[in-house]
Amino acid sequence: MKLKPVKGTHSIRLGDSHASVSSPFKSKDALAAAIAHQTSRIATLQRVLYADARFALLIVLQGRDASGKDGTIRRVFAAVNPQGCSVTSFGEPTGLELGHDYLWRVHQQVPARRMIGIFNRSHYEDVLVPQVHRTITRDVCMSRYDEINDFERMLSSNSVVILKFMLHVSRAEQKHRLEERLSDRDKNWKFRAGDLEDRARWTAFTRAYRGMLKHTSTKSAPWYVVPADDHAVRDWLIARQIADTLKSLRLRYPPADPSVVGLKVV
Ligand code: ADP
Repeated sequence: MKLKPVKGTHSIRLGDSHASVSSPFKSKDALAAAIAHQTSRIATLQRVLYADARFALLIVLQGRDASGKDGTIRRVFAAVNPQGCSVTSFGEPTGLELGHDYLWRVHQQVPARRMIGIFNRSHYEDVLVPQVHRTITRDVCMSRYDEINDFERMLSSNSVVILKFMLHVSRAEQKHRLEERLSDRDKNWKFRAGDLEDRARWTAFTRAYRGMLKHTSTKSAPWYVVPADDHAVRDWLIARQIADTLKSLRLRYPPADPSVVGLKVV
């Protein structure tokens, strides 16, 4: 079982039944061990990513409310060195941000070489939300897809490796998680009234996500749809994809500076 990049419309499956896959592991402990293995691979590769200094890694996380973006960040990156990692959460644009083009706030947060940058929501909100709320026309939306593809292509050719994960949760699981946020005092703070309005627009969001996946999954910045009803399986799939991608970069520790070769510490 492996995540596959979105290619063409046939691979975009956003039905409720596609939000879960059964774990290929015999027990919960075995799955937990597999997650630990992948997060430790990420930690090891992160050290080389930093030393190697040729690439940045940008992870984009999108998904409906309560699809597990926060939990993914907490668990998949549990072992990384915080010094080499940044997380940016994109909420509703501020007045200052609205005074600029929609990629302005995003570009500033793109990780530098050596770094892992995680986007909790992203520039994709600027095609999803306005489509659902009908505040942009179809033409503007199509132009934004092109602009985003150009932007990501530019980043990619400037050493930013991009992986985009859409956390796909079913309607029933989202209901369960939102109810938990309402009933559990420790989770109340996470609940926004707007979450219910967005839930009521389930079909419109599904349509918007489908368009986003169809138009912006590219070779240099692929989308992966992650079945996200089971958070352990979700974490394992994402962590493995990230570790495999870092591995494919053939990162290496740079050789010692010739001027220090042979020196002795006395
Ligand atoms: P989260 O739901 O990710 O935990 P918040 O509760 O702060 O975080 O919600 C962020 C909200 O901001 C979401 O409803 C999201 O759709 C909205 N948002 C983010 N970026 C934009 C944008 N560019 N335009 C409109 N809404 C946005």
